[in-house]
Order: sequence, then structure tokens, then C-alpha cells
Amino acid sequence: SQKGKYPERLAFYNLDLERNLRRKMTLNEALKGALERNEFRLMYQPIVDTTGQIVSFEALMRWRYREQEISPVEFIPLMEQSGRINQVGKWVLEEACRTLAQIHQQHGNICMCVNISLIQFYDKGFVNNVKQVIERYAIPGHLLHLEVTESLFQSEQTMINEKVSQLQQHGVKFSVDDFGTGYSSLSVIQNMNIDYIKIDRSFIQHIEQKGLSIVRAVMNMSHSLNFSVIAEGVETEKQRQLLEQCGIPYMQGYYFSRPLEHPGALAYLNTAMVQESSH
Ligand code: C2E
Ligand code: MG
Ligand code: MG
Ligand code: MG
Repeated sequence: SQKGKYPERLAFYNLDLERNLRRKMTLNEALKGALERNEFRLMYQPIVDTTGQIVSFEALMRWRYREQEISPVEFIPLMEQSGRINQVGKWVLEEACRTLAQIHQQHGNICMCVNISLIQFYDKGFVNNVKQVIERYAIPGHLLHLEVTESLFQSEQTMINEKVSQLQQHGVKFSVDDFGTGYSSLSVIQNMNIDYIKIDRSFIQHIEQKGLSIVRAVMNMSHSLNFSVIAEGVETEKQRQLLEQCGIPYMQGYYFSRPLEHPGALAYLNTAMVQESSH
């Protein structure tokens, strides 16, 4: 009969699928006018060096939809599928650079890291758009760091390297985000001219067990392949210590600071952190 366990489970499964699909459709619909309705904003999370000084901020998108905050983990893929990421990505770049110009005026050489979706990177106007924004805000190119994931370097390597080097000629730096979670082989890393690798949070979380050997391996590669290293998602003093012992030059995570509304309290943050790290 139809009353066995299996069809029941199947029914639950279908319900979940349906609920998921409906949520996606609703969010997709809501995303259409979200930019025009000013529902997006950026938060800025500090990245510190070994002395605890802030050297840069990562711009992170937030979406306020009907009194709720939807995670970028959910809405970025939706915008990638619909192609909306190109337009919204331009807004992110513009907004982050506007903030960078302000910080630069008030505090000197602090960098801004901006996440770039692969879709955006593949867009033919991408390189020109970045150049225009840098010029418009009179930002020294080397203060802008573009974060891409390692899957970018999987295909069309010639085109990718061409775009990367065009922007590097203007000083712009490239970081590989979430390193270790994708599929890039060591030879791919060797062939791409990137400036920073951000070791994914999952390795830092488990640094007291398995993570440590990965962190050490990346550090070793960084010397011979000439890139620098940032550890993501540092949450505890213990993790910070282990990373310091490995020689990791830059760190980011809740232990230092959560993402901030605006990096306006920068001067205060810097003094607070220097005091903390000298204990
Ligand atoms: P991501 O680029 O790897 O950014 C780091 C994420 O880790 C952020 O999540 C940040 O809030 C979180 N994080 C930082 N420190 C800690 C920590 O110590 N512990 C924990 N548990 N988490 C920490 P968020 O803001 O939710 O962003 C998630 C992802 O969404 C980003 O990962 C990035 O891939 C994407 N994203 C965010 N903003 C943008 C954007 O403007 N454009 C694009 N294309 N993607 C974006
Ligand atoms: Mg990132
Ligand atoms: Mg990351
Ligand atoms: Mg990550």
C-alpha cells in the first residue's frame, strides 16, 4: 500500500523542496528592486597585522528585507543566477571605494578588500569599471584588493591572467578567498600571479587538530611563490597564538572585531587593539 514509511518520507522531502523553491522565488522577486529601494549596505571587517594594527577592511554586503537580515551566503548565489550580481557588484565596488577614499584621507594607507563574483569578473566591462572607479575617487590602486575564489582559475586561464595583470598594472591587488575549499591544484596556484591567499575559516577552526599542517604548508608555499597570507575567522587567543607561531602576517576574525557599520571608529580601534596585543 501507499502507507509504508518510504512514501511518507518522500512526502516530507517534497515539502522541503517546495518550501525551498518558494523561498527562492520570493527572494528573487524581492531582489529585483532591492538596489533601488536602498535595501543593501556594506559592513566593514578589520584585518590586522601581527602588532594588532588595522591594515585593511573587508567590505561585506548586507540585505535588509522585510525587517529581516538575509545572509549573503543565500542572496549572492541568487543574484549570480539571475545576472543581477553585475549591477549590484558595481554598486558594492563604488560604495567600498567611496569609503576607502575617506579612510585614506583621514588615516593614510589602509586597504579595502572587495569580494568579486566570478560572473562579475567574466563581464567584459569589468576591468574598465574598476579602473574608472579608482580614478573617480583618486584612490592609489594598491589600496584596492579584489577577492576572488580559486575556482576563477579553473578555466580560461589566459583570459583570467590577462584581466588580472591589466588591473595589477594599475596597482590593484588580488586575493584568493576561502583558500583550500575549492578544487584548485597546486600547479594552478603556481601559474597565477596573485598577491594574497586567505586561508579559509574551516582550517583556522580546526587549527588545534588537523588545520595546523595546512596552515604551515600554505606559509611555506607563500615564500617560494611570492604571495602573502591572511588567516580568516580567527576567534580565539589560542588560534591567534598558533597562527603567529606559523608566521602568518595578517589575520581577520571575531577575535579582533566583528564587521562594523562604518570604519569611522578606526582611530579608536587601532589604539584599543595595540593596547590589547601588548599585554
Ligand atoms: P567571505 O568573503 O569569506 O567573508 C568572510 C565571512 O566570514 C563573512 O561572512 C564574515 O562576517 C565571516 N566572519 C568573519 N570573521 C569570522 C569569525 O571569526 N567567525 C565566523 N564564524 N565568521 C566570521 P558574511 O558577511 O556572512 O559573508 C559571507 C560570504 O558572502 C562572504 O564570504 C563572501 O563570499 C560573500 N559576500 C559578502 N559580501 C559580498 C559582496 O559584496 N560580493 C560578493 N560577490 N560576495 C560577497
Ligand atoms: Mg572575502
Ligand atoms: Mg573569505
Ligand atoms: Mg571564508
